[in-house]
Amino acid sequence: MSVFEHRSFDEHEHVAFCHDKQTGLKAIIAVHNSNLGQAMGGCRMFNYHSGDEALNDVLRLSRGMTYKSAAANIPVGGAKSVILGDPRQHKTDDLMRAMGRFIDSLGGLYVGAEDSGMHERDMKIMASETQHVAGFALQEGERGDPSPATAYGVFIGLKKAVQHKLKTSDLKGVRVAIQGLGNVGYRLAGLLHEAGAELLVSDVFQANADRAVQNYNATLIAPDQIFSQSVDVVAPCALGSIIDDVVLNQLQAKIIAGSANNQLAHDDLGMALKARGILYVPDYVLNAGGIIDVYYQRQGASYDDAHSHITNSIDQTLAEVFRKSDMMGRSTNVIADEVARERFDPNFHGEDAVA
Ligand code: NAD
Repeated sequence: MSVFEHRSFDEHEHVAFCHDKQTGLKAIIAVHNSNLGQAMGGCRMFNYHSGDEALNDVLRLSRGMTYKSAAANIPVGGAKSVILGDPRQHKTDDLMRAMGRFIDSLGGLYVGAEDSGMHERDMKIMASETQHVAGFALQEGERGDPSPATAYGVFIGLKKAVQHKLKTSDLKGVRVAIQGLGNVGYRLAGLLHEAGAELLVSDVFQANADRAVQNYNATLIAPDQIFSQSVDVVAPCALGSIIDDVVLNQLQAKIIAGSANNQLAHDDLGMALKARGILYVPDYVLNAGGIIDVYYQRQGASYDDAHSHITNSIDQTLAEVFRKSDMMGRSTNVIADEVARERFDPNFHGEDAVA
């Protein structure tokens, strides 16, 4: 099957298959759409079972980045790259440099940043081969890792959802169950704790859950029970595709608002959640803080500028999505896609044009 017939191909502008014999690097870089500007997106390293699984991931994720940047109102196109391999076993400095050279060979068509399996250090090594990488600090005092900005954006969007659904702007006593206390989830827990929310947390990596229990007075929940808790909000901050038909029937929460990408196992779940009276906050609208911060970092702008853009754009885009979803009786995930697509696709004019 060629890439053009692939189930996740969506008129991508550029797909590059990269192989470096010397280091064994196998990677794919996908640029989905650059209508709004230079295409940016994370570089993920993951132990894919097959080349097709990696291709599917990079095609979907790069498309998602186009929608995310459009929803976030930044002049940035959508792209992503994946490196095939186990980051704990196969990552070497030479491999990172080889990836840097492939990114450089695209001459700026793609700007990479860290994603799962990658850290600031890896991006710095790539930066020795190309200027087209971002999301790391070169000197002490500079900001780099976009996770704090992502967590802040999720916090802003979660507050907006609480205001809309629970009719209160006060998070005091609001019960939130967080799945995944990593870079984003742990910081989100801190912000929610400060605002007076009651936290329930779970992580498969015990030490990550424990620090939220100790520092934020959170209650520890077994990983397989986090979505069935009696809470107001569930915040998936670990994995994609975790809201499926089984979880749908377990949920007691009124709101889903977390950082994980591609949370819904399939699109129809958006309508099923709506029918159950659960407000689903579209993931890429909510977790755009990181890409907004990376964009501002590349412009040499201050965190204050990034911060106010995150606050305003997430608040305003969610207000539009919630309003249209209520008015039209349609799911928030589909409405978000339309709102984003109207912003990057000049040939798209509302719901009639949705495939
Ligand atoms: P991370 O790897 O730092 O944290 C993920 C945490 O989830 C880890 O502590 C891990 O142990 C835990 N986890 C994994 N499987 C779990 C399970 N089944 N149950 C409970 N916990 C589990 O990742 P992160 O940077 O915090 O990102 C979290 C999510 O947000 C990811 O889906 C990522 O794609 C998305 N995201 C992150 C950013 C960012 O700026 N870091 C931006 C946008 C989206």
